[in-house]
Amino acid sequence: MSRRKQIYEGKAKILFEGPEPGTLVQYFKDDATAFNAQKKATLDGKGILNNRISEFVMLRLGEIGIPTHFIKRLNMREQLIKEVEIIPLEVICRNIAAGTMSKRLGIEEGEKLPRSIVEFCLKRDDLGDPLIAEEHIHAFGWATHAELDEMIAMTLRINDYLQGMFAGIGIKLVDFKIEFGRLANEDGGHQVILADEISPDSCRLWDAETDRKLDKDRFRRDLGGVTEAYTEVASRLGILKENQNKHAPNLSVVSNDD
Ligand code: 5GP
Repeated sequence: MSRRKQIYEGKAKILFEGPEPGTLVQYFKDDATAFNAQKKATLDGKGILNNRISEFVMLRLGEIGIPTHFIKRLNMREQLIKEVEIIPLEVICRNIAAGTMSKRLGIEEGEKLPRSIVEFCLKRDDLGDPLIAEEHIHAFGWATHAELDEMIAMTLRINDYLQGMFAGIGIKLVDFKIEFGRLANEDGGHQVILADEISPDSCRLWDAETDRKLDKDRFRRDLGGVTEAYTEVASRLGILKENQNKHAPNLSVVSNDD
């Protein structure tokens, strides 16, 4: 890790200079934080799982025409990504009431929302990522009208697709947070593309039958079994081969039936 120039260190990821101009290496740490980093832990294997899950999701979204920063996975913890200028917004999409929406509006967790709702928070750790209105985004110039329209359209498309994808493996997509970046193009303009990660760190995922939480709320709420839950998401997505799943028995048996 010390060979390369570190560009940025976040709570769960590190960005290094990439091998080509315009690329970065995104390294997934095992660190978990919650409540604006007041709660911290290291969860063995979380980074490996999030690297794989985010790769899987970004590739599927690429296939349906969502432009993403993902280029390729390099190894267990790293992926090669396009360098973008991150738009300083967290875009949250909700299908079922939970978390801060339940608290803020007094809606019981688990209540289905009348329709999917897109919210924006300002990416400012020192302020606790406050909820903001579109008016703030325009007035302070955090994104243009055109960029915001594109982000909302992409978010709803991503939500539609991921709701279906997770429903297919018996998981409810309760809500998620995504980030977008500006990718410079040759004519001096730019394109807005999906950046960061999509993983159980940034989504609420509930088992469709039991509502068991399979996401970071297990850490936030001290429910235990965090990496087991992330492993289950990866397994249901078909990402892990049994012999790569350290929580499952090693099933790679050599046949002696000659
Ligand atoms: P809430 O606003 O209810 O805390 O979060 C809504 C959704 O966005 C949840 O899926 C949550 O995991 C995600 N989310 C909100 N803020 C952050 C953040 O700062 N980091 C990550 N990884 N996810 C976030």
